[in-house]
Amino acid sequence: MATNIPTKQVWHALTIDETIAALDTNPEMGLESWQISDRQNIYGRNELKGKTGRARLSIFIDQFTNIMLLMLMGVAVVSAFLDLREGNFPKDAIAIAAIVILNGILGYVQESRAEKALAALKLMAAPNVRVLREGKIAELPSAELVIGDIVFVDAGMQIAADGRLLQAVSLKVREGALTGESQGVEKFADRLFNADESLGDRRNMVFQGTEVLQGRGIMIVVATGMETQLGKIANLLQDVEIEETPLQKRMGELSQVLVIASLVLVVLVIGIGLWRHGDLVKLLNTSLSMAVAAVPEGLPAVITVTLALGTQRMVKRHALIRKLPAVETLGSVTVICSDKTGTLTQNKMVAESAFTANYVAQIGGTGYEPIGEFAISRLAGDMLASDLSIYQCPELQILLAAGVICNDSYLQKDNANNQGANGLIPLPTGLDKSQWQIIGDPTEGALLTLAGKANFRHDQLISYFARVAEIPFSSERKLMSAIAEIKSMDAEDTPESIRTIAALLPQTAYILFCKGSPELVLERCDRIHNEKQSNPISISQINSINTQNNLLASKGMRVLGFAYLPLENLPTETELPNIENNLVWLGLVGIRDALRGEAATAVQISQHAGIHTIMITGDHQLTAQAIARDLNIFYPDSNRVLTGREIEHMDDEELTAIARQTTVYARVSPEHKLRIVQALQRSGEVVAMTGDGVNDAPALKQANIGIAMGITGTDVSKEASDMILLDDNYATIVAATEEGRTVYANIRRFIKYILGSNVGEVIAIASTPFLGFGAVPLTPLQILWMNLVTDGVPALALAVEPAEDDVMERPPFNPQENIFARGLGWYILRIGVIFGLQTIALMEIAYNSGNPSWHEHWQTITFTTLCIAQMGHALACRSDSKLLIELNPISNPYLLVSVIFTTILQLALLYVPSLRQFFGTNALNASELGLCFGFSLLLVLWVELEKIGFRWWSKRRLSASAK
Ligand code: ADP
Ligand code: MG
Repeated sequence: MATNIPTKQVWHALTIDETIAALDTNPEMGLESWQISDRQNIYGRNELKGKTGRARLSIFIDQFTNIMLLMLMGVAVVSAFLDLREGNFPKDAIAIAAIVILNGILGYVQESRAEKALAALKLMAAPNVRVLREGKIAELPSAELVIGDIVFVDAGMQIAADGRLLQAVSLKVREGALTGESQGVEKFADRLFNADESLGDRRNMVFQGTEVLQGRGIMIVVATGMETQLGKIANLLQDVEIEETPLQKRMGELSQVLVIASLVLVVLVIGIGLWRHGDLVKLLNTSLSMAVAAVPEGLPAVITVTLALGTQRMVKRHALIRKLPAVETLGSVTVICSDKTGTLTQNKMVAESAFTANYVAQIGGTGYEPIGEFAISRLAGDMLASDLSIYQCPELQILLAAGVICNDSYLQKDNANNQGANGLIPLPTGLDKSQWQIIGDPTEGALLTLAGKANFRHDQLISYFARVAEIPFSSERKLMSAIAEIKSMDAEDTPESIRTIAALLPQTAYILFCKGSPELVLERCDRIHNEKQSNPISISQINSINTQNNLLASKGMRVLGFAYLPLENLPTETELPNIENNLVWLGLVGIRDALRGEAATAVQISQHAGIHTIMITGDHQLTAQAIARDLNIFYPDSNRVLTGREIEHMDDEELTAIARQTTVYARVSPEHKLRIVQALQRSGEVVAMTGDGVNDAPALKQANIGIAMGITGTDVSKEASDMILLDDNYATIVAATEEGRTVYANIRRFIKYILGSNVGEVIAIASTPFLGFGAVPLTPLQILWMNLVTDGVPALALAVEPAEDDVMERPPFNPQENIFARGLGWYILRIGVIFGLQTIALMEIAYNSGNPSWHEHWQTITFTTLCIAQMGHALACRSDSKLLIELNPISNPYLLVSVIFTTILQLALLYVPSLRQFFGTNALNASELGLCFGFSLLLVLWVELEKIGFRWWSKRRLSASAK
């Protein structure tokens, strides 16, 4: 059956019923599967088909605006001029131009691949939506939405399609993406607007790409994909920007410096040469070679590739990089501020204890399966009874019911085929082996499971206590209230359990149930529920509630307090915000959230790596402390727990002073997180901070690495983050820092490898006019070959060198440090000089030894030795401290292969006639080859001797300091 849906309606002027009718959908059950596939066929996927990435051309052009390439072009022009003047074919100029273009194409391919990879990563982070289909709630990729779908909208979400609201509860949406307005606008389901109302004022509609700041709602999808308001303007929005990392920026600056320095060198060589009556052509040749030699043409590509490979390794370990600079910054993180719930713990909540005025209950069972025994005792001093049934304890029954009525989550089986509509709690059969899962907040899921253990049915409770208003939970408020209309129970089929519960409550038209942080709920209570009635609450009762709360919290449990308020009338919109007062206390529920198995190990690893772990939670300080102690991040003698309230009474300076000893922050709100990050940064820390809520976005942006949760995180927090944890796991952060350190170490590794050789080349070439060889040893073409190929290929392999054993055994490096810090610059100069001197000696021997063949081939000998020596150098560069013979040669097979491959290529340049002609080389005989390989060994030997010497020296220093 073909669907004929009028898609061009003015939805904001239609009532809800008209909308439902027009879209042929059902707000209770959602669409049928045939409708879904029908509509998917007609309207396609809910995707924006804008441009993907930067215009191809602009990436391509960018490759040639690089100053190094411009310089090479200059070299090509001069060299062409020199050749043409002598009547030669300008072979070198053409070759250089070809290499420059080839290099540009390679750079283009690499960069567009990196861009695609980042775009793919972005896609992996694309949001899921919660939809009602065929009577069940499903989570699916937003691309699968179709017109008529009933979609749940929650704080922190990015709206996935345009929709007409069916329901809106304190719903506030930021529509900046469409209207440019950064303030949130309130939305209503039950209002109608004129057909010509402007976009920003259609307050019964929500639009794709806008962000829910607060509240929740349900919408009917009215437009998807390019038909949405955003789709109509979307071609600007799909850009994936590749941000340069700090290192890339600095290397860009470095190459500018090198280009300018080499130009200065050229001017100097020519100037001095002419002054000493040298031949201009010779001088020009020398200086061209020098200019090409001074600049590390291969470096930028290697850095880009290394960073891109780093993001790939990280994603394998479940860390998804959103911004390239994060790869580098991760390596220097000094503090990880981690959420407790879900990151250090499993977020699989199980209610274990309940406590009311007269009863205390322990509840058995595991996971979300609603099966478990109650062990209940009566508290009252005079008649201590135990082994009560839940049905003998009115207070506990109301407490359990309150947990279901004041709840936004659903519990269902993963293969929920025998379930009632809406994923309701069915009676447990105990036979089914499939897993119980919750949709929504795990804390609330635990309450549904708890009620299920007493055979309370979700569907019955919420139909007789029908939600008519609510004040949603937020991490700031730490409270949630639901107002229910108590339906008539006169009908015969009213379940007995429902009648019982209603009879225990005051006989009013409405009732409010409130749950949240026990201190906050208790503050708002002046009465307490006692068996079947309510009495004023006494000081001793308050004390005993607080004692019990602390007891549960110090066992590491998350504790919720419950209360109710009978209402004769439904509060008006203005009364609602102040309604949570004069409540009747019901009781406490203690919820266990087990530690993640790998968290303690990860904390230990980060400690060894000099990275401090700080736990941040909205939970009670005792809960936080107990868990932090289990994880070994809290020691009462040296560490502190700070609460949100304490933070509020501190100014920034006080907070800064105390932040470094604090390892646990409890009862914090998102705005405190921002201050914590800032305080740590003021004391010089490099901060990684996790977050999941809408209001965490500012803290995530402020942190050096903002980390969002892949599973529980809101779209808004993901958007603000640098990295997303696909598994929400603390251990993943630690793994990512390890990868970050490895990337940085490898970048340093190949920088010293590449630049050392550049310095050597420059010294060797610069010396030739003074040595009287009558020609330059290397042509610009040969140098380019070395810099891009024979140095470039092994450098790429060094970029994937596995982490050294001690990456996580040493403190983090200062992110401000220069890439040449810690001896790298010296190494480059030192090795460059050694390399240069060695080459000069080689040239002397070859040129002046009296062997005519050596004399004739001295340039090829020099060229080949420079290349082969770098092969050994590459192998030696694998480790700063370990000798070549101590390293496992196949732990980096790429390097082995690339060294062999490059050596063969170099020999091909000598023995394949066409290549020989092109590169201007000679075929070397055995003694000449022997000379090349022999001299090549010298450099490796030198580097290895340095390692031995350094070891000896540091051992001596150690024993001296021990004395
Ligand atoms: P965390 O940062 O550890 O996730 P939250 O901000 O989510 O902490 O929760 C803080 C406190 O709010 C909890 O200790 C609990 O008392 C209360 N709370 C948590 N979830 C809910 C909820 N769904 N409804 C009511 N109160 C809640
Ligand atoms: Mg939470």
